[in-house]
Amino acid sequence: MTKKILISGASVAGPSLAYWLHRYGFSATVVERAPGLRGGGFAVDFRGDVHLRVLREMELLDEVRRRQTNMGDQVVVDGRGRQLAKLPSAFMSGDVEIERDELSRLLYDRTQEHTEYLFGDSIASMTESADGVRVCFEHAGPRTFDLVLGADGLHSNVRALAFGPESRFIRHLGYYVAAFDIPNFLDLDHTGLMYNEPGLGVSMGSAGGKTDGGFVFPSEPLEYDRRDLDQQKQLVADRCAGAGWEVPRLLEAMWAAPEMYFDSISQVRMPHFQRGRVALVGDAGYGATLGGLGTGTAMVGAYVLAGELALARGDHRVAFPRYEELMRDYAAGCQKLAEGAGPFLAPPTRFRIWHRNQMYRLLSWRRLAGIFDKLTTKAARNITLPDYRPAPRSAAPREPA
Ligand SMILES: Cc1cc2nc3c(=O)[nH]c(=O)nc-3n(C[C@H](O)[C@H](O)[C@H](O)COP(=O)(O)OP(=O)(O)OC[C@H]3O[C@@H](n4cnc5c(N)ncnc54)[C@H](O)[C@@H]3O)c2cc1C
Repeated sequence: MTKKILISGASVAGPSLAYWLHRYGFSATVVERAPGLRGGGFAVDFRGDVHLRVLREMELLDEVRRRQTNMGDQVVVDGRGRQLAKLPSAFMSGDVEIERDELSRLLYDRTQEHTEYLFGDSIASMTESADGVRVCFEHAGPRTFDLVLGADGLHSNVRALAFGPESRFIRHLGYYVAAFDIPNFLDLDHTGLMYNEPGLGVSMGSAGGKTDGGFVFPSEPLEYDRRDLDQQKQLVADRCAGAGWEVPRLLEAMWAAPEMYFDSISQVRMPHFQRGRVALVGDAGYGATLGGLGTGTAMVGAYVLAGELALARGDHRVAFPRYEELMRDYAAGCQKLAEGAGPFLAPPTRFRIWHRNQMYRLLSWRRLAGIFDKLTTKAARNITLPDYRPAPRSAAPREPA
C-alpha cells in the first residue's frame, strides 16, 4: 500500500520533500499554518556542486538560474552614504541566488498537482501507534498517516509535539534579524548597501525587480507573539529609533510592508532529529539561520531523507537513522559557518565596526575573497550524496513503496 506521509511546513524543506516523495511513489500531504505561501525575507543562495546537483536533479537549476538575482557588489557606507568598503558579490550571493519566496513558489508549482496542500491549518496533536500516527489538526478532521515529517522551521511545531519544548533545542546566538520588501527609493541597481552604528546593522539591496530592507541587532531573547506583525515591527522600530543614514525612511517602509521576516539568529541542536515515525528536515532539525546555508542544507536534507525512504521501501526504521547519519556532520559544519554572523553584521562598538570594515576591504581583494568563498563552499560540499536514481519526473511513479 502507498505510504501516506504528512509534511508540516510549506516554505523550502516541505515542498522539496513533497517533490521527491512523489517521484518515489509516496503520497504526500503538506500542512502550512499560513493561509498561503509566505512572502518576504532576504534572497537565499546556493554554493558548490552538492547544492547545484540537488537543484539539477530536481530539474530546477535552469529555472533558478533564469530567476537569479544577479546581485552585484555590496557597498558599506557611512552616515552620509560615502563608500567605506566593498564586498564582491560572490561573498554574499554564492553560485546562484534567488529570492526565498520565488524559490518557495517554484517548488510549490512543481508539486501542487500531485500533493495535497492544507493551508491555514496546523497539527494540534499526534499519537503514534504500531500502525501509524493519528493526527488531529486545528481545523481539518483527524487522519492517520504512516509518517510525519516536520519541515516547519526554527520554531517547529512537530519538534515541540514529538521531541519537547524548543528551549531544549534552540541556541540563541544573541542577535535578531528583520527583513522586508521596500520600494527602491535609492534607485539601487543590482547593488546592496550596508550601514552600521554600534549594535545595529542596516541593509538595503535591489535586484531582479525586488528591493529588500533589513536590520540586525543584538538582544537577549525577546518575548513577543510570532503572529503579531505590528508588535514585531514596534520592537524593531524601538531598536532603531534615532539611528542615522536612511534608517528613518527604511522604518517607514517597514511599517508599510505587508510581510516581514523577524526572528532571532539561533541554531537548532538536537541529539537526534528523528524518532519513531517522525523526522525533522531543514531548519526544524538543524537550522542555522543567517549565513548558515540553511536553504541549501534543507534541500539536501529533503533529497537524502526521501531517497533513504525510497531505498528502504518506506521502512522508516531503516531510513530515518541512515538519514540522520548522513546529515548530522554535514548540517553541523554549515551551522558552524553562521556562528559569527551576528557580530559580523552588527558589531557592538565603533572600533569593531572599523575592524570589520578593514576585513571587508581585505576581502575585496580577489584572492582573499576566493579563499573565503572556498571555506563556505567547503562546508556546503561536505557530504557524499548517495545516488538514489529517481525515475525521470515525466515517467510514471515507481512501484508504491
Ligand atoms: C517568510 C520567511 C522569510 C524568511 N526570511 C529569511 C531571511 O531573511 N533570512 C534568513 O536567514 N532566513 C529566512 N527564512 C528562513 C529560511 O527560509 C530557512 O532558513 C531555509 O530556507 C530553510 O527552510 P525551511 O523550509 O526548513 O524552514 P522555513 O523557511 O522557516 O519554513 C518553515 C515553514 O513552516 C511553516 N510553519 C511554521 N509553523 C507551522 C505549523 N505549526 N504548522 C504548519 N506550518 C508551520 C512556516 O509558516 C514556514 O512556511 C525565512 C523563512 C520564511 C518562512
